[in-house]
Amino acid sequence: MNDRIWLSPPHLGGSEMKYVQEAFDTNWIAPVGENLRCFEQALCQYTGAGYALALSSGTAAIHLALVLLDVGPGDEILCPTFTFVATVNPVLYQGATPVFVDSDYATWNMCPEAAEEAIRDRQRRGRLPKAMVVVHLYGQAARVDRLTELAARYGIPVVEDAAAALGSSYGSRKLGSFGRLGILSFNGNKIITTSGGGALLSNERELIEQARFLSTQARDPAPHFQHSRVGYNYALSNVLAGIGRGQMEVLEERIRQRRANFAFYRAAFAAIPALSFGPEPAPSFSNRWLTCLLVDEARSGGVTRETLRLAFEAQNIEARPLWKPMHQQPVYERYPYYGPDRVAEDLFTRGLCLPSGTNLSPADLDRVAGVVQRAFGR
Ligand SMILES: *Cc1c(COP(=O)(O)O)cnc(C)c1O
Repeated sequence: MNDRIWLSPPHLGGSEMKYVQEAFDTNWIAPVGENLRCFEQALCQYTGAGYALALSSGTAAIHLALVLLDVGPGDEILCPTFTFVATVNPVLYQGATPVFVDSDYATWNMCPEAAEEAIRDRQRRGRLPKAMVVVHLYGQAARVDRLTELAARYGIPVVEDAAAALGSSYGSRKLGSFGRLGILSFNGNKIITTSGGGALLSNERELIEQARFLSTQARDPAPHFQHSRVGYNYALSNVLAGIGRGQMEVLEERIRQRRANFAFYRAAFAAIPALSFGPEPAPSFSNRWLTCLLVDEARSGGVTRETLRLAFEAQNIEARPLWKPMHQQPVYERYPYYGPDRVAEDLFTRGLCLPSGTNLSPADLDRVAGVVQRAFGR
């Protein structure tokens, strides 16, 4: 059997070990240290955000963002239905209610018209959403201009889930820097990794300082242990920040490689009209974290997303359906949903993520392309 080809495995550069070793040599294993300081500084410099806080995961960053916005029981949070569950789980951690919004085909992300309809309807029913979580899936930007304008018009703060979109941009600005709070993930499958980790970004110093306080058990200034509110243990370790520091040095190269994977697949399947790819409308620039395919079953001669996925599995290649919408998940199906056009459901039914790691060899890429080409009889 051939070696397994994974969807998006970690890919280390060259200097991660040097920074990790420095943490060991100086005994700054925890709780703070030079790696954390430099990693946070690199994130600010790269994204253009004023302030950054390194955290133990992207999920923790989303949770803290909601805590900072004072989200609690009775509050409603606008979320895209088409996303990874970690976008939404923190809404329930806070005892609040998610209100799901469909995607548009132009970006695959939150549809501005459906979002406006949702806001108006919630307002008619008595309350405006307390926050809006905008997600940039697979590295593709949402309609940032329309969604931030809409949120500003109704006075709703935006949390930007850029977990998969480090290095992507909208116009001249990097994703993660548009929301009142932005979040990143450095999970093992993301474009760069700290093995596990995340970050919170903001232009408001006060918010990031408050997040730092909350992420380290909310200790009041006192010689004894004094606490006036609930805190969390969400800090990233200085050891793992060393991995992140090294990964930041290769981020541009990783974006180039992810985009090269995409270009390879697009060329390889150019003669198969039943296949189309994830969008990248102007003025967005995608890091192409994962290359995503849509199968048009009206002209695929019986090939479906699922027959393709099984053909990959038979060749020991990992490929995954696009995200299953939240309003179709058992844990979330009872919450409000605005999506008359059912775009997310369609994307889920027809969409497949291809192996997109930056350490794929030319032979690996040929193996992946061969599965699709054979499925279409080429
Ligand atoms: C990966 C991811 C997260 C969660 O990040 P973790 O670091 O794994 O907690 C949240 N939202 C989206 C869109 C993601 O892709």
